[in-house]
Amino acid sequence: MSPTLIEIIQSKNYDIIHSKAEVQEIHRHLIDSSNYVNAPNFTKIHPSDLELIFDEYDRRFFDGAIRASLGDSSLNFRLSKRMTSSGGSTRQWRDRYTRNQKFEITISAPILFESFDGPNHRDIIANGIVCHDRVEALQRIMEHEIIHLVEFLAFNESSCSRKRFHSLAKQFFGHTFHKHQLITPAETAKVKHGIMAGKKVRFEFEGEIFHGIVNRITKRATVLVESPEGQKYSDGRKYVKYYIPPAILEPLE
Ligand SMILES: [Zn+2]
Repeated sequence: MSPTLIEIIQSKNYDIIHSKAEVQEIHRHLIDSSNYVNAPNFTKIHPSDLELIFDEYDRRFFDGAIRASLGDSSLNFRLSKRMTSSGGSTRQWRDRYTRNQKFEITISAPILFESFDGPNHRDIIANGIVCHDRVEALQRIMEHEIIHLVEFLAFNESSCSRKRFHSLAKQFFGHTFHKHQLITPAETAKVKHGIMAGKKVRFEFEGEIFHGIVNRITKRATVLVESPEGQKYSDGRKYVKYYIPPAILEPLE
């Protein structure tokens, strides 16, 4: 009989040489066999690519025990265009009718594509490990989400702020840090354009020039422009909201 997920968790020790070799094999395998990801800094990706690397991780690090312990539960992979504050997420819930367990791993497309963008990109650090290209960044995010899934399956709950998660992430992948340290669109806006929340900016919109204050940045910056037709804010003034690409904002100070 093949070992269960719990047995694997309890028996496996981190072996840096072995782990690094497997991770490199997965990197190579994805580029070789994907119909979309064709380079380390790929420009196209499909949810099937997420499943492809997940299955490689399951096979090489867990002897296929993650799939095996899913049983009747479904596992879905999704790429999100809107997730910008973190690299990925893992969700567990029960189907309303069948009561079957469902799992979903979501990876942020904007975070991947904002990273390693252009010739002056900098390496990013994820989970305490330096990533040199987009596939490596995707792998770090997937490794983190795999530990969430393993915890859900083995213990029915998961939290990456707890000790158990940290020791599992270290034991399998050598992770030493457990926050999303990938460069985010907000960070890009700041690095490339000096734009951040609270900054006074000028921008052109439909031929007119506006002055405003950056309120928040996701894929676009939310800029508040004072106007009598606007909505009242906590400072007592009225503002109209504009959603503007950070690249066309001009800092005013
Ligand atoms: Zn997490």
